[in-house]
Amino acid sequence: MFYDYHTHTAFSDDSDTPMTDMLDQAVRLGLAEIAVTDHYDPGYPDPEFPFEPDFEGYHRALEENQEVYANRIRIVKGLEIGILETELDRCRAAAEAYDYDYIIGSFHCALGEPLYNGHFYDDKTPRQAFIDYFQYVVDNIRRFDGYSCLGHLNLVSRYAEADADFRDYGDLVEEVFKIIIPQGKGIELNTSSFKYNMRCSCPSEEILRMYRQMGGEIITIGSDAHTPDRIADHFGEAEEYLRSLGFRYTSVFRQRKPDFVKL
Ligand SMILES: [Zn+2]
Ligand SMILES: [Zn+2]
Repeated sequence: MFYDYHTHTAFSDDSDTPMTDMLDQAVRLGLAEIAVTDHYDPGYPDPEFPFEPDFEGYHRALEENQEVYANRIRIVKGLEIGILETELDRCRAAAEAYDYDYIIGSFHCALGEPLYNGHFYDDKTPRQAFIDYFQYVVDNIRRFDGYSCLGHLNLVSRYAEADADFRDYGDLVEEVFKIIIPQGKGIELNTSSFKYNMRCSCPSEEILRMYRQMGGEIITIGSDAHTPDRIADHFGEAEEYLRSLGFRYTSVFRQRKPDFVKL
C-alpha cells in the first residue's frame, strides 16, 4: 500500500491536470492515501508563475472529492508552501487559514532567486551555492514553523552543475535537524529525483543518514507528480531504499499530526 504525500493539480500554476484525474489514477494504482499539495509561493519572483491558488475553490474541491472518493481512497488536504524570507507573514497566514492535514515547507528560491532558472548559481562555486542554500533554510526555519515536513530538502542539487562535498555544508544540515526534530516535524523523500536523473536521491543519502542518526523518524514519501503518470513513481524502490538506511516507518498525517505506517 502506497501513500503519496506530494502531488499537484491544476490549482498549481505549473500543472494542467484536473484534480479528479489525479485522484482517479491514485485509485487505479490502489493507493491508500494521496496528499494533494498544491503550490502556494507568495512573492515568487517570476511573474509568469504567481503560485497563488484560488484557496476557496481549492478547499471546496478537496472537501467535495473527499466525499465522492470516500470509499476508495483517503484524500489528505495538503499544501506546499514555498518559503521566502520576505513573505513569512503570508506563509503563516496561509498555514492557519484552513484546516490542512499536511503542509510541505519548501525552498524553491534562496536569497531572492528561483533555483530552477539557474540565476541563484551565478558566480557561485557549487560549494558556495550549497552553503548559501542551507544557510538560507536554517535562517528561515528559525522564524517559520507552519509546515509538517520539509520538502525536497536538497533541491539545490537538482539545478546545480555539480554537488558540493557534504563536509562543506553538513553542519548546516545538522542545524536544520536540531531545529525540526524537537519540533516534531519531518522531511520527505521526493521520488522525482528518479525522473530528473539527479546525481543523488532527494534528499541525498548523506542527509537521510544524518537525519536517522540524529533520531529523525518522521518521513513521508512523495512523487511531486504534476501529471497522473507520475503518481507513486518509484515508490517500491523508495521504500526499499529507506529500509536500507534504517528507517522502519513512513509517516502519514491527520490534522497536522503524524502517524506511522510500517515500511
Ligand atoms: Zn517543491
Ligand atoms: Zn511540489
